[in-house]
Amino acid sequence: MIWKAFLLALSLVALGTGAEAQDVSLRVRTPIRLPDLPGYMTLKCDFHIHTVFSDGLVWPTVRVEEAWREGLDAIAITDHIEYQRFRADVSTNHNRSYEIAREAGADLNVLVIHGAEITRQMPPGHLNALFLSDANALAVPDWFDALQAARKQGAYIMWNHPGWEAQLIDRRVQWFPEHTRLLEADLMHGIEIVNGSDYYPEPHEWAVAKNLAVLGNTDIHQPINLEYKIQGGGQRPLTLVFARERTVEAIKEALFNRRTAALAAGKIFGDASFLRPLFDGSVKVLNAAPRREKTLLQIHNDSSVDFLLERAAKPGDVSIPEKITLWAGKTGLIEVRGLGKLPAAISRLDLSWRVTNLLTAPNTPLTVKLEVPVADPAPGKNR
Ligand SMILES: [Zn+2]
Ligand SMILES: [Zn+2]
Repeated sequence: MIWKAFLLALSLVALGTGAEAQDVSLRVRTPIRLPDLPGYMTLKCDFHIHTVFSDGLVWPTVRVEEAWREGLDAIAITDHIEYQRFRADVSTNHNRSYEIAREAGADLNVLVIHGAEITRQMPPGHLNALFLSDANALAVPDWFDALQAARKQGAYIMWNHPGWEAQLIDRRVQWFPEHTRLLEADLMHGIEIVNGSDYYPEPHEWAVAKNLAVLGNTDIHQPINLEYKIQGGGQRPLTLVFARERTVEAIKEALFNRRTAALAAGKIFGDASFLRPLFDGSVKVLNAAPRREKTLLQIHNDSSVDFLLERAAKPGDVSIPEKITLWAGKTGLIEVRGLGKLPAAISRLDLSWRVTNLLTAPNTPLTVKLEVPVADPAPGKNR
């Protein structure tokens, strides 16, 4: 009917949504700025993600676009082996969610890792197996057999949410003999010290003491922006992986060699050997300090992470603020006093700070040094 088509055309004009008009402002990627380390790329990864193929509430392709929008390099799809809430509605093939996500990943250049969550009572609790070839082989009654089946495929195995409230026994976060058994059998390589909005100090200590990779993941079940204020600048927790290149194989190598850190809620947890170059590669002192009573230092933070600094030592007669924040992507002015009295022989000031949001162990901030060149003031200027 011609008049119907005419009315339809009218309504499209009225809404201003012709077929050619796409709102490209919505589908944008926000990069996470962090420097690469000498010899390694800093990759942003989330190794714990659910879809409708277990008890998540989204289709696997959506997970890929969420990750792309948030600036991630890689995700692992880790649906539960033992729990498929929607088994009456979707395939019970445990490889299927990965296969669907992998195709979407190829389109968007997001690396997708084949994983699964082995979901048992504590101990040993829940463990993710990553880099699988066939997740169906993990569907066996005994948890130790399931992990061995994963390991036979070359899997990387991590202990998930060791401090999850629902699984605490005697309300304590505990390392059980079963976990020692896993460690000794080469069946545990990393541990989540961050899961969603939770941080676990004891497991962080275990990671340091037992040489396990530290991991921070979402364990996301909902659409991501129902849990994190993505549009408002919020960010999911993630694992930083220091890899030789941006490939699934290189991520696997880096994980087995424990080159990771966890970024969550504005904090980064990890070894000083990674946190220090992350800080040093992000922060630059832009000017030399003239030998005057009062001088303004310009310090630039090129990363996406604010750095919270606390004075670690008072540099002699020179006075620097007790606390400063180096805001992400900004240059800050820091007032320094007393340089006028410095002897002419001193040509450099070492300012040492604790970075209270870079943590090498629980409550153990990284100490950093900012080197400030000291210069004679320009002639004619006030001393
Ligand atoms: Zn779990
Ligand atoms: Zn999970």
